[in-house]
Amino acid sequence: MRAATRSGALPRKSRPLALEFVVPDPSLIVMVGAAGSGKSTFAERHFEASEILSSDRFRAVVSGDETDQSATRGAFSLLHRELDRRLAAGSLTVVDATNVQRSARRALLVRAHATKTPAIAIILDLQPATVLARNADRGRVVDATVVRRHLAQLRASLDGSEPVIEGEGFVRIVVLRDSADIDRVRISRTPR
Ligand code: GDP
Ligand code: MG
Repeated sequence: MRAATRSGALPRKSRPLALEFVVPDPSLIVMVGAAGSGKSTFAERHFEASEILSSDRFRAVVSGDETDQSATRGAFSLLHRELDRRLAAGSLTVVDATNVQRSARRALLVRAHATKTPAIAIILDLQPATVLARNADRGRVVDATVVRRHLAQLRASLDGSEPVIEGEGFVRIVVLRDSADIDRVRISRTPR
């Protein structure tokens, strides 16, 4: 049994409270964050592999190389086509791509709206130093200049008194700012 504190209450549990999010099923979950911010790790932790459309995977399909930026156009063309198919079938879908540019999010939101699927943004807005260090530490490093550009594009989407992302059509925007919060996330689903 736990030892009682001086006041007689049980000691505070060492496990922090969970950050609970309930997502409609089906819905479109849009991951947003610079390369290295942890989008793929987060998506894989909370969703089934079959529910995740990853731009890196589609780059690999197009060119055999996940990092081949010249394959971006073809990769997104396939990703969007598969997204259309999944949304039409009423399948919850997670898009694992940087989505730091409004135009990239727009291409996803129009598809969600066409099928009346609610879209939720999950934004990983970590300290630049953390993102750059994680990117540098992993096997497949994205050029730091590119990561800095992603970080600047994310800031442009989030900062200001009326962040642009708020007017884009997401039913919910979740912003996670540090690893402690990311670790506390629990996601459950409710039928729509
Ligand atoms: P993505 O480029 O946004 O998809 O980022 P990844 O999910 O590939 O993660 C980039 C690097 O950061 C990988 O080496 C991960 O193992 C690491 N990483 C991701 N999430 C976390 C986290 O919550 N904590 C720590 N310490 N490392 C993480
Ligand atoms: Mg990734």
